[in-house]
Amino acid sequence: MTFVPNVEFKKKLLDVHLEDKIKYCYQCDRCTSVCPVAEATNNRYNPRTIIMGAMLGLPQLVLGAEDNFKIWGCQVCDTCDEKCPNDIELTEIFNLVKNISVQQGTAPEYYTMQAKTILENGKAIPSQSAIERRRKKYGLPPVPKCNVDEIQNILKQTELDKKLKYKWVEEQ
Ligand code: SF4
Ligand code: SF4
Repeated sequence: MTFVPNVEFKKKLLDVHLEDKIKYCYQCDRCTSVCPVAEATNNRYNPRTIIMGAMLGLPQLVLGAEDNFKIWGCQVCDTCDEKCPNDIELTEIFNLVKNISVQQGTAPEYYTMQAKTILENGKAIPSQSAIERRRKKYGLPPVPKCNVDEIQNILKQTELDKKLKYKWVEEQ
């Protein structure tokens, strides 16, 4: 397979990275050797490869529409950030790549559906009568209501709705 560098993709990642430290990556592989996901998946998920793809501007190595596990395997445990000898904040790069993945529509549906649920209800698991009945049975108080408007305002400021191409009910 031939990989074609994408300058815009490279600029987007390198320009944003804090203090531009990513350029000091010398591919030592320590990030992958300490990553629990890399270990559990026999390196199918590989943070070092993602950093290499970011530095070279190769979205195919990072986003891989045929295997979105490439970036979405990261569980943001921050172990790699702590162990990188060059203080590269890998998870900053990964967050950026995840945003690009959502915007180009290659993010796994279970992530975008979960984000839409939070956008609509202000929480990941909306209150359900079955949950409330069980809480009552065990003598627990009802789940406190959250301020959905406030949460939606915050999420709108992060432009989550635009990234998800979410249409608000009143705009439909
Ligand atoms: S640990 Fe740091 S320097 Fe080493 S490969 Fe990973 S990102 Fe690069
Ligand atoms: S933050 Fe992601 S890439 Fe880094 S060690 Fe944890 S799961 Fe692996």
